[in-house]
Amino acid sequence: MPDWWHSKTLEELNQNEWEALCDGCAKCCLHKLEDEDSGEVFYTKVRCRYLVEHNCSCSDYGNRSVLVPHCIRLIPSELTTYDWLPTTCAYRLRARGLMLPDWHPLVSGDPESVHQSGVSIRGRAISDEFVHPDGYDEHIISWVE
Ligand code: SF4
Ligand code: SF4
Repeated sequence: MPDWWHSKTLEELNQNEWEALCDGCAKCCLHKLEDEDSGEVFYTKVRCRYLVEHNCSCSDYGNRSVLVPHCIRLIPSELTTYDWLPTTCAYRLRARGLMLPDWHPLVSGDPESVHQSGVSIRGRAISDEFVHPDGYDEHIISWVE
Protein backbone atom coordinates (compact mmCIF):
# COMPACT_ATOMS: atom_id res chain seq x y z
CA MET A 1 0.00 0.00 0.00
CA PRO A 2 1.44 3.43 -0.92
CA ASP A 3 2.35 5.85 1.82
CA TRP A 4 -0.41 8.34 2.72
CA TRP A 5 1.60 11.27 1.36
CA HIS A 6 1.49 9.68 -2.08
CA SER A 7 -1.95 8.06 -1.94
CA LYS A 8 -4.00 10.97 -0.60
CA THR A 9 -4.81 14.21 -2.37
CA LEU A 10 -4.08 17.45 -0.55
CA GLU A 11 -7.80 17.87 0.13
CA GLU A 12 -7.91 14.44 1.80
CA LEU A 13 -5.16 15.17 4.34
CA ASN A 14 -6.09 15.68 7.97
CA GLN A 15 -4.50 18.53 9.90
CA ASN A 16 -1.59 16.45 11.23
CA GLU A 17 -0.85 15.03 7.79
CA TRP A 18 -1.03 18.51 6.25
CA GLU A 19 1.52 19.85 8.69
CA ALA A 20 3.77 16.80 8.30
CA LEU A 21 3.83 17.24 4.54
CA CYS A 22 5.89 20.41 4.90
CA ASP A 23 9.53 19.45 4.28
CA GLY A 24 10.83 22.19 6.60
CA CYS A 25 12.99 23.88 3.96
CA ALA A 26 11.76 27.37 5.02
CA LYS A 27 12.29 28.72 1.51
CA CYS A 28 8.80 30.20 1.69
CA CYS A 29 9.95 32.31 4.66
CA LEU A 30 12.42 34.19 2.46
CA HIS A 31 11.41 37.60 1.14
CA LYS A 32 10.62 37.69 -2.53
CA LEU A 33 10.59 40.52 -5.06
CA GLU A 34 8.30 40.68 -8.06
CA ASP A 35 9.16 42.42 -11.32
CA GLU A 36 6.21 44.77 -11.86
CA ASP A 37 6.41 44.44 -15.65
CA SER A 38 7.08 40.75 -16.17
CA GLY A 39 5.58 39.37 -12.96
CA GLU A 40 8.74 37.32 -12.48
CA VAL A 41 9.44 36.46 -8.83
CA PHE A 42 12.96 36.66 -7.41
CA TYR A 43 13.93 35.10 -4.10
CA THR A 44 16.25 36.90 -1.74
CA LYS A 45 18.26 35.41 1.12
CA VAL A 46 16.52 37.80 3.53
CA ARG A 47 14.34 35.77 5.84
CA CYS A 48 11.47 36.52 8.16
CA ARG A 49 12.70 37.47 11.63
CA TYR A 50 10.37 34.92 13.25
CA LEU A 51 12.13 32.01 11.62
CA VAL A 52 14.43 29.97 13.85
CA GLU A 53 17.08 29.31 11.27
CA HIS A 54 18.92 26.39 12.85
CA ASN A 55 15.85 24.15 12.56
CA CYS A 56 13.90 26.21 10.01
CA SER A 57 10.79 26.44 12.19
CA CYS A 58 8.51 29.38 12.87
CA SER A 59 8.96 30.76 16.40
CA ASP A 60 5.27 31.70 16.69
CA TYR A 61 3.42 29.53 14.19
CA GLY A 62 0.00 30.04 15.79
CA ASN A 63 0.19 33.82 15.49
CA ARG A 64 2.09 34.01 12.20
CA SER A 65 -0.71 35.64 10.23
CA VAL A 66 -1.02 38.39 12.85
CA LEU A 67 2.70 38.95 13.23
CA VAL A 68 3.39 38.86 9.51
CA PRO A 69 0.33 39.82 7.46
CA HIS A 70 1.95 38.65 4.21
CA CYS A 71 2.71 35.20 5.67
CA ILE A 72 0.54 33.16 3.35
CA ARG A 73 -1.60 30.24 4.45
CA LEU A 74 -1.54 27.64 1.72
CA ILE A 75 -4.97 26.60 0.47
CA PRO A 76 -5.18 23.11 -1.09
CA SER A 77 -7.49 24.04 -3.94
CA GLU A 78 -5.29 26.98 -4.96
CA LEU A 79 -1.89 25.31 -4.80
CA THR A 80 -1.48 24.75 -8.53
CA THR A 81 -1.64 28.53 -8.98
CA TYR A 82 1.17 29.25 -6.48
CA ASP A 83 3.94 29.47 -9.06
CA TRP A 84 6.11 31.41 -6.62
CA LEU A 85 6.57 28.39 -4.36
CA PRO A 86 9.92 26.63 -4.84
CA THR A 87 9.76 23.69 -7.23
CA THR A 88 10.91 21.45 -4.37
CA CYS A 89 7.99 22.41 -2.10
CA ALA A 90 6.11 19.29 -1.05
CA TYR A 91 2.71 20.98 -1.41
CA ARG A 92 3.55 22.16 -4.90
CA LEU A 93 4.79 18.67 -5.84
CA ARG A 94 1.72 16.87 -4.50
CA ALA A 95 -0.68 19.41 -6.03
CA ARG A 96 0.81 18.30 -9.36
CA GLY A 97 0.64 14.60 -8.51
CA LEU A 98 4.44 14.28 -8.20
CA MET A 99 6.40 12.10 -5.77
CA LEU A 100 8.26 13.47 -2.76
CA PRO A 101 12.06 13.41 -3.06
CA ASP A 102 14.25 11.03 -1.07
CA TRP A 103 15.45 13.84 1.20
CA HIS A 104 11.93 14.70 2.37
CA PRO A 105 11.72 13.88 6.11
CA LEU A 106 8.62 11.76 5.57
CA VAL A 107 10.47 9.60 3.04
CA SER A 108 13.84 9.50 4.81
CA GLY A 109 12.41 9.25 8.33
CA ASP A 110 14.98 11.84 9.41
CA PRO A 111 14.05 15.52 10.00
CA GLU A 112 17.70 16.44 9.35
CA SER A 113 17.71 15.10 5.79
CA VAL A 114 16.24 18.30 4.30
CA HIS A 115 19.15 20.23 5.81
CA GLN A 116 21.87 17.68 5.08
CA SER A 117 20.81 17.55 1.43
CA GLY A 118 21.34 21.31 1.12
CA VAL A 119 17.72 22.05 0.25
CA SER A 120 16.82 24.11 3.31
CA ILE A 121 17.88 27.70 3.96
CA ARG A 122 19.74 26.80 7.16
CA GLY A 123 22.96 28.76 7.42
CA ARG A 124 22.31 30.73 4.25
CA ALA A 125 19.90 33.51 5.19
CA ILE A 126 19.91 36.96 6.85
CA SER A 127 17.15 38.10 9.20
CA ASP A 128 15.01 40.98 7.95
CA GLU A 129 15.84 42.74 11.20
CA PHE A 130 19.18 43.62 9.62
CA VAL A 131 18.23 44.59 6.06
CA HIS A 132 16.19 47.62 5.00
CA PRO A 133 13.44 46.63 2.53
CA ASP A 134 14.93 49.03 -0.04
CA GLY A 135 18.04 46.87 0.01
CA TYR A 136 16.42 43.47 -0.52
CA ASP A 137 17.36 43.56 -4.21
CA GLU A 138 21.03 43.38 -3.19
CA HIS A 139 20.35 39.94 -1.75
CA ILE A 140 18.65 38.23 -4.69
CA ILE A 141 19.73 34.57 -4.88
CA SER A 142 19.64 31.82 -7.47
CA TRP A 143 19.71 28.78 -5.18
CA VAL A 144 15.93 28.64 -4.69
CA GLU A 145 14.44 26.71 -7.57
S1 SF4 B 1 8.48 25.81 0.69
FE1 SF4 B 1 6.82 24.36 1.02
S2 SF4 B 1 7.79 22.55 1.93
FE2 SF4 B 1 9.26 24.27 2.14
S3 SF4 B 1 8.81 25.12 4.18
FE3 SF4 B 1 7.57 26.27 2.70
S4 SF4 B 1 5.58 25.21 2.68
FE4 SF4 B 1 7.07 23.82 3.65
S1 SF4 C 1 5.75 34.19 10.37
FE1 SF4 C 1 6.68 32.16 10.56
S2 SF4 C 1 5.83 30.93 8.87
FE2 SF4 C 1 5.43 33.14 8.43
S3 SF4 C 1 7.17 33.82 7.11
FE3 SF4 C 1 7.68 34.26 9.26
S4 SF4 C 1 8.84 32.47 10.01
FE4 SF4 C 1 7.77 31.87 8.12
